[in-house]
Amino acid sequence: MGEPELAARLSAIDERIAEAALRAGRDPGEITRIVVTKFHPAQLVRELRALGVVEVGENRQQELTAKRAELRTDQDPALDDLRWHFIGQAQTNKAAAIRRASDAVHSVDRVRLADALHRAAEDDGALDVLVQVNLTTDAGRGGSALDEAESLAEHVLRLDSLRLRGVMAVAPLDEEPARAFARLRSVADRIRGLAPEATWISAGMTADFVSAIDAGATHLRIGSAITGPRPARG
Ligand SMILES: *Cc1c(COP(=O)(O)O)cnc(C)c1O
Repeated sequence: MGEPELAARLSAIDERIAEAALRAGRDPGEITRIVVTKFHPAQLVRELRALGVVEVGENRQQELTAKRAELRTDQDPALDDLRWHFIGQAQTNKAAAIRRASDAVHSVDRVRLADALHRAAEDDGALDVLVQVNLTTDAGRGGSALDEAESLAEHVLRLDSLRLRGVMAVAPLDEEPARAFARLRSVADRIRGLAPEATWISAGMTADFVSAIDAGATHLRIGSAITGPRPARG
């Protein structure tokens, strides 16, 4: 991919984010844009870093671990500033590998996964985590049921190696995103009642980030609009 194109797409999206924030009466500076680099080679992360990107997202543990091994920070110190967000469904038996490779895990959707991430702590540092909420009626999609999200958040709060930062969700395919994000907003507000520091709302992708900003999203996870179409997986 040509770097000029990548730079142009990145700045076009950042402009749209800033406009949407201002229209919603929000400060663009309170919104974090995470670039989702899944399926793309590690080289793309290097190019993004050279353009000033520090927040990147991956949805598969193996791919995340492989990219981090390839992007050795001793060879390129600028890579040391990257913050890696894990945004995919997580298998409990991969929790240690996910924890090792991530700065934040957005997809904590069950007690067993929270416990596994907690057990995987290797030092005194706390891992930033979000409770993922399923906004669909399909239990097979990732995320805790809406009415179980608060009790999951309470459980996470008891695990001292995890720092609860807020909530995450993906909009359903068959519903107006604004309506779905309103439900996320209310569960986010309730969880903030339990934990005032849990202020993150991770929502909004290429197709729906403007609605997410309207609904109070603090962390957008944007892939294809910035990276271009994802290569087919081998
Ligand atoms: C792939 C992915 C994104 C980014 O999707 P785009 O439509 O390419 O912006 C965001 N969130 C999650 C959980 C994803 O898996």
